[in-house]
Formats: sequence, structure tokens, C-alpha cells
Amino acid sequence: MGCITVLFLLGFVNTCLSNIPMNDVEIWIADYKDDKQCAISYTFDDGLLEHYTLVYPQLEKLGFKATFWICGKIIESKGGTTGIPRMTWDQMKEMARNGHEISNHGWSHLVLRNKEESTIRTEIALNDSIITTKIGKRPLTFCYPGNFVDERAIRIASRGRVGTRLKQYAIGGEKSQSTQEGLNNWLDELLRTKQWAVTMTHGITYGYDHFIEPSVLWNHLEQVKSKQDSVWVDTFQSIATYVKVRENTILDIQKSDLDLCIIPRTSLDDKIYRTNLTLVVKVNKKIAHIVQNGKKIMMKKRKDVILFDINPYEGEILITFQE
Ligand SMILES: [Zn+2]
Repeated sequence: MGCITVLFLLGFVNTCLSNIPMNDVEIWIADYKDDKQCAISYTFDDGLLEHYTLVYPQLEKLGFKATFWICGKIIESKGGTTGIPRMTWDQMKEMARNGHEISNHGWSHLVLRNKEESTIRTEIALNDSIITTKIGKRPLTFCYPGNFVDERAIRIASRGRVGTRLKQYAIGGEKSQSTQEGLNNWLDELLRTKQWAVTMTHGITYGYDHFIEPSVLWNHLEQVKSKQDSVWVDTFQSIATYVKVRENTILDIQKSDLDLCIIPRTSLDDKIYRTNLTLVVKVNKKIAHIVQNGKKIMMKKRKDVILFDINPYEGEILITFQE
């Protein structure tokens, strides 16, 4: 399950709880937000203009947020010698304002494998700096140019970030040209294996690694939308953060008369790892209300469990049962 399950066994139950059937309360942190079955981060590489003109409107229509990996030097030179049009900072700023992630793909797309420490640092820092200035948000993730890595590059790129892209599923592209059927199978596989997948797409109708028929991508996104109750689509940063915080949070559960008290414990830095976690409660007694730090928390009922979101840094959560 990849989560922390706290099972209240009869032997642990204090006498003051004798009026609550606590022997079968289960509480755990959901693998993904809203206890969805799998997760997808759609990520688009190299800042191609079509990511703004074609991809962004489709994503907005469906309410999906995605990640765009940018090389500052290539944006500044408007594609440079490649002759392939790129997005402008203003276009990316608009996307960022609407919840999309504009993040670091190295200043000049220089491969970081087998490079001097100072070169790696410069490539990453220059790009952090221009994205922070132009977009107004420091990148908290990183994508390796050409997907080439070594330990040194990973160590330097990971510092102060919630994650870096180490695995990707290519959608589109000459070598791995995607088909409707292939993408459907991939989605079924994700649902079955409950994984978080990170995609990689370059060109859409031209440029490089583009689709033979871009409707394959639009139809796929519609298909995912139709399964939105089971699939969490969000930026690389959002899902990387959730997964990291989930893996590093322990629920300390204490009991009082009619309440159940949960204290989330995590040693992560809340300035970098900002996220709520979804908790799942399975209990055969009605919950009156749930409160964290004096604030009432909304509950969602789903089948035989109750879902609610907590802030892992805000301390004590009180679940009060109906008499
Ligand atoms: Zn690239």
C-alpha cells in the first residue's frame, strides 16, 4: 500500500474508549491526493512555442496543470540557431499564473553528465536565476538535458528541490511514436500498478519528436479526463512534493474520551515541501467533525471510507465521533 497504516487493536484500547468501537479503526495516508489510484505529470521539454499555442489551451479546457522545462539561454535567443520558435517569458508567466509549472532544464541544454562541478552549478544557477526573475517563482524541480545523468549531476541538481526528472515516458516522438491504443494501454497499466508517471513531449505538429497526428494527444487527455476520479493529473512539483511528504510523515495516534487525536510528524522543510496530505479513515462509527489547529476540516465520504486533507506541519488533528 506504500502508506502508514495505524491499526487499533483491542489490546491497545484504554478503558475510557470503551464506548467507541475502536478495535477496527484504520487511518492511513493516501498514496495520492484524494486517494486517487494513480498519478500523471505531463511534462513538455525545451519551451517550444506550440506548448503555449496548442498544449496550454487544451490543458486549460480540461483543468489539467502541467510542467514546462525551460532553458533560459534558448528562450532569450528565441530558439537561436535551431530556427524552432519558442515561448516568450510573458506567455510562460501567464501559464504560471494559471498554476502550470515553469521549471529548470539547464541554462543552455548542456548535458550535465561527466561535467565539472562548477559547470553543472553554473548551468543550473543561471537558469534558476532567470526563471525566478522572469516568472517570479524559483524552480523547485529540475529536468536533465538529454536525460543524461550521473551521481554528481543528480546530487547538485537535487539540492533544495523537491525532485528531479529521472524517469520519463515519451509521448509523441519519432522513435516512440504514440498511438491511441498504446496510450490507452499505458493508462490501464498505470491504474493497475498505481504508479506516478512522468511524461516527456517535445514538438506537437513540427519542431522535433512531433506527432504524426496530434489528435492522438488531445484524445488521450480527454480519455484521462473521463477517469479523473481515479487519476491525479498535476505538475511534477505538486506530485513529487506529495509523494516525498507522504513517505516522510508518520502519524502518531493518541486517544481521549470521545476523540481520536492524530499528530503528523515530519522532519521535512515546510518552505520547500509545501503540500496537504489526504488521510483515509475506515471506522464503523459516525464522525461528528474533524478539526486541525482549531479549523474545521471538510470530509468526503467514499464507499466505506472518509477522506480529508490535513496540513502535515500544522499539528494535532482531532476526530470527534457522534455519541
Ligand atoms: Zn531538452
